[in-house]
Amino acid sequence: MTVTTRCQGCGACLLTCPERAIRPHGAPLLVLARACTGCGECVEVCPVDAIEFTTPTAPTTPARTPATAAAPSATAAPSAPRSVRR
Ligand code: SF4
Ligand code: SF4
Repeated sequence: MTVTTRCQGCGACLLTCPERAIRPHGAPLLVLARACTGCGECVEVCPVDAIEFTTPTAPTTPARTPATAAAPSATAAPSAPRSVRR
C-alpha cells in the first residue's frame, strides 16, 4: 500500500486498518509494509482514493520474457539422455 499526496489526512484509513499498519505522519500517512496484509480495507474507506494498492512484500516472480517463455517448464517430461553407457 502506498498513500499518495492526494491524502487529506482525515484518518479514516488509520482507524480502519485491522493491523494498525498505517501511522500518522501528517499527510500523506505512512503504511508500514511489514505490518500490512494487503486486505484493502483502507483503500475502500479513503474518500479521495489516495491509497494505491501495491504489494511490496509479495514474492517476486521473474518477468516472463520471450526467452523464459520458450524455456522448458519444470514439469515437462525429461528428455532422452545425450549418450548411452555401454
Ligand atoms: S491493506 Fe489492510 S492491513 Fe494494509 S494498510 Fe490497508 S487496511 Fe491496513
Ligand atoms: S483515508 Fe485517505 S485521505 Fe484519509 S488519511 Fe487515509 S489516505 Fe488520507
